[in-house]
Amino acid sequence: MSTDASGRRAIDLSFEFFPPKTPDMEQRLWQAIQALAPLKPRFVSVTYGAGGTTRDRTHATVARIRATTALEPAAHLTCVGATRAEIDAIAVRYWRAGVRHIVALRGDPPEGLGERYTPFPGGYAYAAELVEGLRRINDFDISVAAFPETHPEAASADADLDNLKRKIDAGACRAITQYFFDPDIFFRFRDRARARRITVPIVPGLLPIANFRQTCSFSERCGTTVPAGLRRRFEGLDADPKARHAAAVETAAAMAAALIEGGVGALHVYTLNRAELTRDICAAVGIVAQEPAAPLASAVGA
Ligand code: FAD
Repeated sequence: MSTDASGRRAIDLSFEFFPPKTPDMEQRLWQAIQALAPLKPRFVSVTYGAGGTTRDRTHATVARIRATTALEPAAHLTCVGATRAEIDAIAVRYWRAGVRHIVALRGDPPEGLGERYTPFPGGYAYAAELVEGLRRINDFDISVAAFPETHPEAASADADLDNLKRKIDAGACRAITQYFFDPDIFFRFRDRARARRITVPIVPGLLPIANFRQTCSFSERCGTTVPAGLRRRFEGLDADPKARHAAAVETAAAMAAALIEGGVGALHVYTLNRAELTRDICAAVGIVAQEPAAPLASAVGA
């Protein structure tokens, strides 16, 4: 991590968005993209709904970012519910649209977490196979998922790390982690990954807490530990949006600062399509743009 003359922190940021379902949500998304662009993210990614349910919306959003902004879009793509030929066709379509970055994932069943995953007949079974498939198609920049607290379905923490190594060996360029709430969990995971000779960047995923109850229930399903201190910090704030926002900024900023202090050079923020939280967190940590913002006027309402 480097700092400029005024002590501001220069790191690579990336922002994750989800494809909008309604015109209102669409407007909010583009406002968020515009508001966050001055932070000069290295890339912005767009998720792919469980079971491939957002295939067209993901594609449309990614293509629009490519066509109307100076930002680098990354398209999430999963193995769920499609044959290899169908997934390959989506990837080819992305390449033709000028999209060079894919976040390659196994994905979860359409019913969501908790359901048993079974590979689609004729499909890619796991993310490592998808990475191999993408490599055959073209020279994509490929990111994959990593799990500092171990993926819930993994046979063991070591088996999960072996799986990450397979994804990297198949051609992934970086790993983006599931969110976590204790920086030491990330540091221990990074050490174990390095010991396994996983040398690509491991980018911590940072989840600002917009809704504490929802965060707890999702964390339970995806295996993220919610520390008691965090529960205490958000207790009684349900009816007080201002105090909740302050707590969300404070806790995420403390996490980001600890990660940067520990040598992290990149952060991936799960923005929840909200600009304010992400912007306030970056401001609180002292992360600022190093260059003027890219012109984005054509993106909004385009
Ligand atoms: P994999 O790497 O394939 O691993 C899945 C599980 O299978 C692990 O437990 C692994 O250890 C095990 N495994 C792998 N290979 C084998 C094998 N050969 N035999 C037996 N076990 C094996 N989901 C979405 O639906 N859409 C998204 O847009 C999305 N974006 C995400 C972004 C990030 C940064 C992260 C961290 C997760 C995201 N997810 C998304 C969730 C992800 O799809 C789920 O966590 C999914 O359950 C695992 O995906 P994976 O790519 O890690 O799978």
